[in-house]
Formats: sequence, C-alpha cells, structure tokens
Amino acid sequence: MKPAVKAGKKYLAAIAVLELITIVVLCMLLLRPHDKPVLTVFGDVDTVYTVDSLKGFNTEKVSRDGRSMTVIALSEIAKKADPRSGEYDVCFIGEDGFTAQTEQPEGIYLALSRKHGWEVVCPDHPPTTAIRNVAKILILDRSDGSGVALVKGSENQRYSVGQLYLMSGESRLLDGESNKQGKTVKAYIMRNVVQVKELTEADSICVMGNNGAQLIDRNVGRLEIKENTVDYVAGDGRQRVPDIAGIYSDPPPAMITDTAADAMCMLESGQRVMIIELDGLGITTYMAGEMRTLESLGNMMQALSVYKPVSPAGLAAMLTGVTGDQNGIVSRERELKVPDLFERAAALGKKCAYVEGDAALIRTSLSPRLCVDVNKNGSTDDEVLAAAIEEIGHSPDLLFIHFHGIDDTSHTHGPLSEETKEKMRQLDGYIAQLAALWGDGRIIVTSDHGQHEGNGADNHGDFRYEDLTVPYIIK
Ligand SMILES: [Zn+2]
Ligand SMILES: [Zn+2]
Repeated sequence: MKPAVKAGKKYLAAIAVLELITIVVLCMLLLRPHDKPVLTVFGDVDTVYTVDSLKGFNTEKVSRDGRSMTVIALSEIAKKADPRSGEYDVCFIGEDGFTAQTEQPEGIYLALSRKHGWEVVCPDHPPTTAIRNVAKILILDRSDGSGVALVKGSENQRYSVGQLYLMSGESRLLDGESNKQGKTVKAYIMRNVVQVKELTEADSICVMGNNGAQLIDRNVGRLEIKENTVDYVAGDGRQRVPDIAGIYSDPPPAMITDTAADAMCMLESGQRVMIIELDGLGITTYMAGEMRTLESLGNMMQALSVYKPVSPAGLAAMLTGVTGDQNGIVSRERELKVPDLFERAAALGKKCAYVEGDAALIRTSLSPRLCVDVNKNGSTDDEVLAAAIEEIGHSPDLLFIHFHGIDDTSHTHGPLSEETKEKMRQLDGYIAQLAALWGDGRIIVTSDHGQHEGNGADNHGDFRYEDLTVPYIIK
C-alpha cells in the first residue's frame, strides 16, 4: 500500500473518534440531571408550597450593584401557600441553616440563579436579610388564631406552628430496628421536637386532635413539628395523635363521654336513668351560681368536652361514649359510626325515650320526639319540659332530655349575661319538677360544651377552657 493512502485512513479514523467524543459529551450535557434549587414555603400556611422556577410568576426588574436582576415579590410566592392570616412575619432559612427573620416582608424580592440558588433581594433591608441559597421560607402567623392551643388552669394560650418550629430542636429519633441472620440495624430519623414540659408544668395532659381524637397522658411527651401541622407523641414513645388542635393541662376527672358508660352501668344494675343535657352550659356559666336545685342534686365534677366543642360532636360523644375520631362526628356531621346508647339500652330490653328541641342534630337509633316552639315564646324549653313530663308518664327506663335555652341565650346575650342567668334559673326550676317526678331513679346532668364571651355565633367551637369545660352531676 502507498504511504499517502495509509495516512488518509488514519486521518479519517481520528475524525470518527473525535465525532464520537463530541456526541458523548453532548449527550452527557443534555442528560445531566438539572439540580434546580427547590424552595419550600411552610409553617403557618394551609398548603405547603414548593417552587423551583420563576415560571408563572409576575417578574420585576430591580438593579443591584449596577446589574439588573429579574425578581419576584416575596408576597407573590407566600400567597401560593395560603398563609393562615394576612399578618405574618417571615424567616429565610438557608441550605446551611442560617436563618434571617423579618417582621417587614414588604419590599422583599427573590431571585433565582445557578450561582446563588434562591436569593433574597431587599434593597431597603439590612444586609443580613440578603441571604443566598435559601432552602425554606417559614411563615409566622401574627394573628394569634392558628396553631396549637394550650389550656393552663383557666388560661388560654396559643402557639403557632411557625413559633413552635423556631422553638424546636432537631432530635435524632429511633425509627425502627431490623434483624437478619443475627445482625441488627437501627434506623433513625431527624425530627423537629418541642418537649411539652417546656410549655406546661402539668402532671398530666389531654391532647386533642383535629380529627377528634383524645389522649390523656400522665407521662407527658413531645411535640413533633411538621411542615404545617404538629403531632403529639406520648411519653411512652408509642402512641401518637397526628395534627393536634390543642393540649389541656391537668384535665378534669370526668369527660362527657362518661355519660354513656355511666348510664349503661346504671341500667345494667336495674336502675332507671334520666339524662338532662343543658346545651351550652360551660363551667364558667354554671359557676355563676344560678342553679340551686342542680347544685343540691349531687356532687358536681368538672368534665371535659370534645374537640370540636359544638353541639353535634358533644351530643354524639355523650350518646356513644367515644370521641369523634371513632363515632364519626367531629364537628357537624350527622351519621354515627358506632352504636348509640339507645341501641345498647334497647339490647338490654330497656324502654327508651328521647326528647329534643325542634331539630335532630345527629341520626340516632331512636328518633327523637321533636318539640317546636308552639307558643312562639322564642324557646323550645317549655315544650321540651311538657313532652318530658308526658314521657315520664310512660315509665321509660332511659329518658334523654335536651334543653337548648342556655346555649341560645348565651349566643344572643353572652354566657354570663342577666338573660342567661334568668334562663338558668328557669331551667333549674324545670330540673326540680323533673327530678320530683323521676322519684328514686338516677339522674345525670351535663352539657355538650360551654361558651366564651365573643361575637355570638362564634362563642364556642374553639380549643378554649370555657368551651371545653362543663359540669357533670350525678344523682
Ligand atoms: Zn350545643
Ligand atoms: Zn351553640
């Protein structure tokens, strides 16, 4: 072969190799996983929001150090997460954990670049705010209306999720243990934790979940702060209440859920039981001292209502003996998931009667006898009394009577108003009449929830001492 042809072939081979290398490099560049910096907005928000580009936002131009930057207003990103209220502070948390908190989120922008990731741009703020590689934005609600409630004595406190996050420490917690052929592996997870002892010195607490769950813990445990909710983990490390609504320090000895169990005990031992539900009679209203007959009927114990402290949930708790997470009525639902007291009493062969106001709040196994305000005096209580007296004439073993007057009057005039006190004296007289007719039968008097001073319609339903604490009296 001639040397020139040989050289030409070598040249072609070199080009082919170069082309191959170029293709491989291009492929690597194209297929490279693009690690876009992710920004998470969390804390006192309805929706945890993550974002990795400026796409879809109204961008603006700001100039800094002589160069023009494309930015988006912080408020534009924050509103995507639905802050719990319009009043909030903001913390910028860097990838390295550096945190800058500001009470003036106005005039703050965010830029995104390959070099600095998410970057705070704030021409009018101290330079400490201008952090780069921001990983998270923590929204801190200033409205005092969200987060975890804490009842201490008769005091009501509140910690927002954001506040608890800032108070928390990172803890390495044992998640599980696995074994294979004699070898053990322990797995740990990192969690943001606040010990409940830091919030209350209570010996025992009752924790209530937004799902209606209730847990009494005598071995006070810890809070695990999630992105926009808080879990409670019991002192034994095993039981957990997810997404808690609040903590009640040193809860009272009785619960309104005791009603069903107490009544069943009495019925099983052959006694007749009359249950009187005084809707809306909280402990603070009861303590006004307007119900002398009730006070002399039997010892008053304080009792814990359920979350939410509203009429359907309270009634369901009394009639089933279990909380909303089990009986299906957490707030204003209607269908029970478990047998009610009437069904259980009927199974014992007991004769039951149920006298209600003008509407059934939940669907019970025994339809209530409804009482409308026939004489149009603004209350069904007198009609309920007349119907209850008639029912006593039919000698039931179990009679459940629901008076609504205290709740109605408290909504209109306030739980400690003169009008409510007058209503209490009237119902006290009704109780005297009913007790006299009931003779030697047993009587339980309690309430579904209390009320706090407020703007009427919203006077109950909150995790508060006044809403959650009611009297429980047994004769
Ligand atoms: Zn009620
Ligand atoms: Zn009410």
